[in-house]
Amino acid sequence: MTVAPSTTMHDEVRLLAGEKNAVILAHNYQRPEVQDVADYVGDSLGLSRQAAATDAQTIVFCGVHFMAETAAILSPEKTVLLPDLGAGCSLAASIDAEQLREWKAQHPGAVVVSYVNTTAEVKAESDYCCTSGNAKSVIEAIPEDCEILFLPDLFLGVWLERTTGRKLKIWMGECHVHAGIRPADIERWQDEAPDAELLVHPECGCASQCMAFGNERTHILSTEGMINFAKASPKPRMLVATEIGIIHRLEKEAPGKRFEPVNRKAFCKYMKMITLEKLRDSLRDWKHEVRVEPAIAAVQA
Ligand code: SF4
Repeated sequence: MTVAPSTTMHDEVRLLAGEKNAVILAHNYQRPEVQDVADYVGDSLGLSRQAAATDAQTIVFCGVHFMAETAAILSPEKTVLLPDLGAGCSLAASIDAEQLREWKAQHPGAVVVSYVNTTAEVKAESDYCCTSGNAKSVIEAIPEDCEILFLPDLFLGVWLERTTGRKLKIWMGECHVHAGIRPADIERWQDEAPDAELLVHPECGCASQCMAFGNERTHILSTEGMINFAKASPKPRMLVATEIGIIHRLEKEAPGKRFEPVNRKAFCKYMKMITLEKLRDSLRDWKHEVRVEPAIAAVQA
């Protein structure tokens, strides 16, 4: 392909995607310019569904490694590209398959519920895989007399215990970004912005404490839940407790409202490894392909 000198990187990416019959999926935490060039922007679950439904032969996943793996499992006949193989996840890295096998051996007969932020090997050792959007209903569907091992997120696990009333065995993993959003961040904003709604992701270090506030303007929501809430709510101002990349999408989908992060340092260095340039290179040079061993994928199909 010959690219005219005046062509922007955005245009170059779109041209390459068309030429290569590729669909670009971007997570809500991606850089604004990457979100803007994507065909779809969403959370892990929404993007997985898009990956499974697309007719395109290639999926370029602008997110982190475990998400690209999930897309590869759901679409084994397609090529899945991740523009930077270094885009990992501190939460997914908090438990590996061997550690999970040891934990299971200590609790024979227990049901294993894994959050989607896990490697393909860990998912293959699990009975259920959930997202923050459906975790509560997954736990509620498991018979009362079953012991449940929940992994890997400590804060999401505590929040699930409080909302379902079930006692869970919880793995002590955490996302460094969400764990860095502390109750003090929320308390400060509660005082400084009495007119604002608070949107809190359940992975946050403050999430379980937020529930104790019993405050009508505090809402514990998945990232997709935040988007839906912001669009439907008549309130003009919202404070957001999750990775700051979501602000861009909120501003696009609910224009005219004011969105502010409760903690401006809630920045995921892994998500931000994907740049427009690396996305262009990925399409142009066909890299980096993410594959899941068929034996591992087959357990989850
Ligand atoms: S924000 Fe946290 S959970 Fe999400 S990809 Fe980054 S490290 Fe992983």
